[in-house]
Amino acid sequence: MGLLDKKYHDSNIIIVSLESALNWARKSSLWYEQFGLACCAIEMMATAASDYDFDRFGVIPRSSPRQADVMIVAGTVTMKMASRIERLYEQMSEPRYVISMGSCSNSGGPYWEHGYHVLKGVDKVIPVDVYVPGCPPRPEALLEGFLKLQDRITNESIIEPKVSEESEKKTTGKEPVGAE
Ligand code: SF4
Repeated sequence: MGLLDKKYHDSNIIIVSLESALNWARKSSLWYEQFGLACCAIEMMATAASDYDFDRFGVIPRSSPRQADVMIVAGTVTMKMASRIERLYEQMSEPRYVISMGSCSNSGGPYWEHGYHVLKGVDKVIPVDVYVPGCPPRPEALLEGFLKLQDRITNESIIEPKVSEESEKKTTGKEPVGAE
């Protein structure tokens, strides 16, 4: 506060577009739904703990998908778990984001070839915004993923809000523009 003291005493007006202000607020308070499924979840928990301190970015965990802006899928997505992930994703309100953390969630990881019980990437059931590579990724990598997501939100237009392809398909019955 010392730096700001008196500096804006006489002229305390800041001019900024509404969109920039809202995007700044959104990117600075990303509440995440923690979807820890295997070993990667340990690194996700470490990122939230005091050494790496997620909170300093406004990133805090929520237990309910209805209160979450972003879902972190951290670990091995089994076939049985895939439908649960999809259901909880649908319960999040728009705009919603997904970070896929680790090789398992990105592509099946060590189970890619012979894991009959593992989904070969969570993006087979929900859209992913940021992929964090590694087996497991270190906390710094997950933090980098959040910074990338923040960049994305900064450049997003709230006039045309992000709507996932599935939602658009369900609402309009049409394929979204640009989809294959
Ligand atoms: S990517 Fe590696 S560390 Fe992460 S859940 Fe899979 S096997 Fe475990």
